[in-house]
Amino acid sequence: MIQHLNSKSNQYALTFMFMKKKFFITTPIYYVNAKPHIGHAYTTIAADVLARFHKSQSEDVFFLTGTDEHGLNIQKKAEDAKKDPQIFADEISEEFKNYWEKLNIKYDNFIRTTDEKHKAAVQKALQTLFDKGAIYKGEYEGYYCVACEQFKNEKDLVDGRCPDHDIVVEKVKEECYLLKMSGDVQKRLIEKIESDEFKIAPVKYKKEILSFLEGQELRDVSISRKNVSWGITLPFDKEHTTYVWADAFLNYLTGLGWEGNAEKLPPQWPADVHLIGKDILRVHATIWPIMLMHLDIPLPKLLFAHGHIRSGGRKMSKTLGNAISIDEMLEKFGIDGTRYLLMSAGTFGEDVDMTMERMVEKYNADLANGLGNLLSRVLKMSEKLAVLPELDIEKKLVNTGNHLYKKDENFNEWVVDLKFDMGLRYLWDNFVRKSNLYIEEKKPWELAKVNQPEFEKVMRRLLEDILFVAYCLKPIMPDTSKKIKEAFEMKKTDGLFPRVK
Ligand SMILES: [Zn+2]
Repeated sequence: MIQHLNSKSNQYALTFMFMKKKFFITTPIYYVNAKPHIGHAYTTIAADVLARFHKSQSEDVFFLTGTDEHGLNIQKKAEDAKKDPQIFADEISEEFKNYWEKLNIKYDNFIRTTDEKHKAAVQKALQTLFDKGAIYKGEYEGYYCVACEQFKNEKDLVDGRCPDHDIVVEKVKEECYLLKMSGDVQKRLIEKIESDEFKIAPVKYKKEILSFLEGQELRDVSISRKNVSWGITLPFDKEHTTYVWADAFLNYLTGLGWEGNAEKLPPQWPADVHLIGKDILRVHATIWPIMLMHLDIPLPKLLFAHGHIRSGGRKMSKTLGNAISIDEMLEKFGIDGTRYLLMSAGTFGEDVDMTMERMVEKYNADLANGLGNLLSRVLKMSEKLAVLPELDIEKKLVNTGNHLYKKDENFNEWVVDLKFDMGLRYLWDNFVRKSNLYIEEKKPWELAKVNQPEFEKVMRRLLEDILFVAYCLKPIMPDTSKKIKEAFEMKKTDGLFPRVK
């Protein structure tokens, strides 16, 4: 027995058993200047889908999200609301948590940049950067957009206004601390992006960032503000607070319990995926990796930027009256309906366009008439079966050689690649719609009267297919997946996805 355990293959097997592959995924931490909207939900649901999927592959998953709570913008909003900035931040941060619960988001940690531990770690990291000479005292002059909390290049302005916020930018000149962005560190960053050591996806964004980095010497960036009290005080100069972005980026490490020591990194680091919206791509692809490089910390593996949600060809906005709220969607389509509609809205990485009319149409076609109808038909007909066939799809899937195994791999590839819409389309085209057509063609209710073996064969295929869909849907529509399985196990259903108007 002992000899057996010492054999080489067993040692490998044991090591393998205990060393699960890790998967660390993050969303941006959301700025608490406004309540959560559909764009926040879009990013966070996608991260949740990936986290659940990788968990189902027995990986050691850590899913981090949270809120970004410092800066002039919050300070001003809190003043307008006549609230203490901490109370203001507490309230909005709580709303994010509530929405994530409503949308069945299962994160492992919700980091807040006003957490004492985060603040202490940021100070420690900044002190290291200062001691190394990566941060130095200087002066910054530029146009500042309060809504972006970013300095803007003059050439990016439209009539003196921020192109993203359409507000007049302020000309600011002040003493500040700057982070070195050019020279060797810029050159090394270009190499890491080119080689995909620090991968930026979709590939169009990799190209965009490379051409930006190769086209100019980066300007050193200010990492502090002198007249903003709502922020983390610089450890080496109490008159300054940390610029909100420099503070926020470090959440990706402090959210794992990091205490600010560059030599003592959490085991989950580096991040496997930083999921972001394309509007914050440039800062994430320049300032953040350069901070890490100065600290000698490995870069995240993948920075994935998704597109914006538009409506009727225009940016969603309250003024235009085309904004769709999370509440509206939840009320109409339920949790899984909302998750389905967002994840199937279009290519993840491109802008997607959503209108209420089209969503109602898609919901009714794919969910009420598609999956919901299929389930109730198959359930009803399965009453005529003497015995239900073996239904443990998950067990079958681990048996190599089973035809279901291959199908599963097809779907998995789409999800791993963040092509959620393709994965869903694959399931609907090949299983949901095909099964409904197969029912029309075979008319099992007639077969049941005249040809029992044939009826059982047809039903077996239908059951396998619908349970396979339920199995694949687990990360995207967790409740639906569970309900379908339970419906067959207990031979009952409350019905899925009632039609909406
Ligand atoms: Zn702006």
